Amino acid sequence: MELVLASNFDPALVEQTRDLPISTFFGNFPTSLIGGGRPPRILPAIDPDGFRRHLAEVHRTGRKFYATLNSSDLGLREYSADFSPQFRREVDRLIDLGVDGFVVAVPALLEGLHRDYPDVGLSVSTFARIRTVAQAEYFLRLGADTVVIEEANRDFPLLRGLVRAGARVELLVNQTCLHDCPFRFHHLNTSSLASQRDTANPPWFELPLLECGLELVRDPGQLVSGIFVRPEDLEVYEEIGVHRFKISGRNATTPWLVRVARAYAARRYDGNLLDILSYVQNRAPRAALRQLAERGVAPKIVGPLADAFDALASLEIDNGAFPAGFLRRVAATDCLHTSCAACGYCATVARKVVRIRGRPLAEYEPPASLPDPRPLWPSFGAGEGAGRSTNARPTPPVRG
Ligand code: SF4
Repeated sequence: MELVLASNFDPALVEQTRDLPISTFFGNFPTSLIGGGRPPRILPAIDPDGFRRHLAEVHRTGRKFYATLNSSDLGLREYSADFSPQFRREVDRLIDLGVDGFVVAVPALLEGLHRDYPDVGLSVSTFARIRTVAQAEYFLRLGADTVVIEEANRDFPLLRGLVRAGARVELLVNQTCLHDCPFRFHHLNTSSLASQRDTANPPWFELPLLECGLELVRDPGQLVSGIFVRPEDLEVYEEIGVHRFKISGRNATTPWLVRVARAYAARRYDGNLLDILSYVQNRAPRAALRQLAERGVAPKIVGPLADAFDALASLEIDNGAFPAGFLRRVAATDCLHTSCAACGYCATVARKVVRIRGRPLAEYEPPASLPDPRPLWPSFGAGEGAGRSTNARPTPPVRG
């Protein structure tokens, strides 16, 4: 097993994970020419000296560091004459700071990196949204050595095909995104553009998270059919040749990152699975709605939405209650071409494992109606509450 862990640039993170099978840390400055896949307001500020020191620590423990240059949208900057020289300068600077490899989504960037820096590692980002073997093969021919998968975590025919095609597959394991999320492309492009250095007025809250969170308000059981991987299920992937597992959380605290890395390294977590998963589609909208409420913005919209999201703040997923063979059962289902409503397996599991305010999922009643959230959109723009991050993870309780 090989873990790839998000870095928050805290020296204690490297120290406290020395004994774990981490091969690689990843991260970047909050903003860059290309953008790094996370909105800058949620990321730790880091100066070049601190960046260099952190990478030296990483190297001292025998690990590598990959920089995220993984935007899915370059904002048409690539058509300007100074884009290529600027990109070259940015990559030279990162390599000088100690970066060993890059995570990239745009094929032209990956191809250029491979031509100009043939010795650096190149991972295809989840932002490239690889869903077929043919898509991955294009990237492999352009110079990629690793393909990072997230939304297709439970597409076992694809994963087997990628391994057969010679790709080193890396699986992002701790996100709570919806099964085949319809909001994904908008969310990825929002994060991409927001993290580019010269983007004027990036939003302080990414509204696809609100849309995603509302899906769960309507049916919290959908969490179970999502893309997370339980620590206990890593072996199902290892059996087909996938051994590299990525843990996200560049905005997270060190205790949280250490806890998650330990759970996956141990292949086991006793307790609420949400302790080690992102659950960002509830945490972030709740914080955003709280800010709007404090400012008195549209109380007839914000109030009912905040109540609906708050109701799921106490949601727990009892990791010990999953049926034996949960993932193997999902892996044996053609989920891409099956209606979840018709199949019903994940909903059955959800009724066993999900608790809300300590009560069974069956007792949860979604709001009969919710206000249209669209009038709130302008409130999420820059200048409208700018300066306060909402996606930052609160310090989670650390279990003993
Ligand atoms: S098709 Fe069945 S097994 Fe697959 S995600 Fe939907 S409910 Fe789960």
